[in-house]
Amino acid sequence: AVVTRFAPSPTGFLHIGGARTALFNWLFARHHGGKYLLRIEDTDRARSTDAAIEAIFDGLSWLGLNGDEEPVFQFARSERHAEVAAKLLEAGQAYRCYLTSEQLAERRQKAQDERRPFRLDSEWRDADASQWPEDQPYVVRVKAPREGETTIDDQVQGPITVQNRELDDFVILRSDGTPTYMLAVVVDDRDMGVTHVIRGDDHINNAFRQLVILRAMNVIEGGWEDPVYAHIPLIHGADGAKLSKRHGALGVDAYRDEMGLLPDAVFNYLLRLGWGHGDEEIISREQAIEWFDITNVNKGASRFDLAKLQNLNGHYLREASDDYLADLVLPRLVAAGYPDADKALLARAMAELKVRAKDLNDLAEGAVFLFAKRPLTMTEKAQKLLTDEARERLAAIHERLSGEPEWTLEALEANLKAMAAELELGLGKLAQPLRAALTGQTTSPGIFDVLVLLGRDESLARISAQAG
Ligand code: GLU
Repeated sequence: AVVTRFAPSPTGFLHIGGARTALFNWLFARHHGGKYLLRIEDTDRARSTDAAIEAIFDGLSWLGLNGDEEPVFQFARSERHAEVAAKLLEAGQAYRCYLTSEQLAERRQKAQDERRPFRLDSEWRDADASQWPEDQPYVVRVKAPREGETTIDDQVQGPITVQNRELDDFVILRSDGTPTYMLAVVVDDRDMGVTHVIRGDDHINNAFRQLVILRAMNVIEGGWEDPVYAHIPLIHGADGAKLSKRHGALGVDAYRDEMGLLPDAVFNYLLRLGWGHGDEEIISREQAIEWFDITNVNKGASRFDLAKLQNLNGHYLREASDDYLADLVLPRLVAAGYPDADKALLARAMAELKVRAKDLNDLAEGAVFLFAKRPLTMTEKAQKLLTDEARERLAAIHERLSGEPEWTLEALEANLKAMAAELELGLGKLAQPLRAALTGQTTSPGIFDVLVLLGRDESLARISAQAG
């Protein structure tokens, strides 16, 4: 059975590249009816924070990418990692290396002076226990093969081959006995039963090193199978440069909170970023699970396009239920200083508001007029519309609507249209000042909808406040 994992380092927020890696792991597992696991790689004690762990869980859960089991915390497994290092040592697949950092620096310098590539070639590789100096710090290095070559049949990149002599004997236990990242990943993946390692292509070189440990352990005790690798290309900005903040590459929480995007839109966008199914732009979760295949992921870097994401979001807004949107918009209005914002009214306004909105901020801004207190604050444009002539018309409208027995869309529309006809005016000449009086703005949902949403009393009070 397929087991994938997403293994973020909690040193910052969940960024868009990480979220896409999680998504591909989740989809691959779902497509194959397998499991998708989470591992928090918190071994960098200085840089890992609880806030980052929170942000990662929060972002994943928002996108619907929670793990199928309790997450694994890597640091808590240090003893197990050290135990594997001990097995490698005991079997002669790793060795104690007493080279000091000064010695290493000297050798590196020498190689540089002689213009040749540095190779570690530690004399401790073949030393036996009788040669070990007493009371001197050492690191444990794995014995990398020195001959032959290693090929990874990467599911995205295709076969990649490295000459084994290019792999050095890297450190698996530091001199203080703590395991290195390279060791921890291999042990954890194996113990978690991971069959497919899907991650950013910045980890390709690590894969060859990780295989050294894995294959050595497989010789020692069996049951350490090579996983299938799929290294996915990084995400670039629209200008082709590595993605950074100025491209709008923020944490997933910013997409939710500041930009007001819907999780389904971000999900769909991330999916299409580097993967496709024909020309389909709008892909549901169910379709994605059915169609996703890691071998269809593009080899080249994909370009992040904020405008595309926002357009997609507009689509999902229009698809979403009014009730769902009202739930999301309500706290935004409360935060914007409208504590009495009412969900039922908000939900009734959504059908109109979402026609033009791109995100939840647009919806919240569009809904402000519903909860604004009299006297309304007018935008400059609205103020300009309210000429003396316009105010007189408002007075006439007030009189006429006060006598309207039925406060419905149809009745109000018929009434005002009849009024415009009697005055031989275009409907706009009535609707414009009316909109300014009712909303304080020059754009809003349809004027009859606004009247119905505000209701008779509030509408008449707002009109009267501006009437001349
Ligand atoms: N913790 C690593 C990272 O955040 C990922 C390691 C892996 O996927 O093997 O880049």
